[in-house]
Amino acid sequence: MKIKDVYFLKSCKNIADFPDYQYPEVAFLGRSNVGKSSLINMLMNKKNLVKTGSKPGVTRTINFFILNQAISIADLPGYGYANVPLKLKKTFLPLIRRYIMNRINLKLAFFLIDIRRIPGSIELELLSLLSGNKIPVAITLTKCDKVSRNRLAQYIQNISKQLGIDSDRLFITSAKTLSGKKELLGLIAEYAGGTVRNGGF
Ligand code: GDP
Repeated sequence: MKIKDVYFLKSCKNIADFPDYQYPEVAFLGRSNVGKSSLINMLMNKKNLVKTGSKPGVTRTINFFILNQAISIADLPGYGYANVPLKLKKTFLPLIRRYIMNRINLKLAFFLIDIRRIPGSIELELLSLLSGNKIPVAITLTKCDKVSRNRLAQYIQNISKQLGIDSDRLFITSAKTLSGKKELLGLIAEYAGGTVRNGGF
């Protein structure tokens, strides 16, 4: 899939503010600092579409982008950052849950996990919410360049075991080496439909 143009549309704090259009939507979610901004920028061929390395856990909004005038991209707030005050931390999850349960545009969720981290209870809860709402999920392992080649399989194995998901179903990515870019863009084209049906990409 070719990225022709992509732009930021709006930031939303409440479900009532979500853009009301028909575009199929692809969402990105993951813990703070997982590399979500870097991955979105890498996929969209942009350096600063999404601000990277910002203070973890501070973004409390869902940010919407429009890709190729045909696909909506939702960047969900990073959850689970240890140093965020509990009160602030608690505001993220309800918004994410409401998004998952209500967003009818949502066709595919990229669920990001740092390859070096074993997913915890928040991840398991959100994954089960996604599957309960019949949302296709692409488990996307980030920062894979940080792990040596000969240890990669072990890291993948640990995560797949914790999630109870076959390791073949995990996507291996790196914003640094562009690893996984083609596969993820292929998924966006496949699930967000417009691409294939319109034949315009
Ligand atoms: P976010 O909080 O999930 O949006 O994470 P960011 O994209 O801001 O990345 C957090 C930190 O990890 C930054 O210092 C990035 O430079 C770094 N980072 C993100 N992706 C990668 C990657 O694929 N490889 C490496 N080596 N570092 C990465």
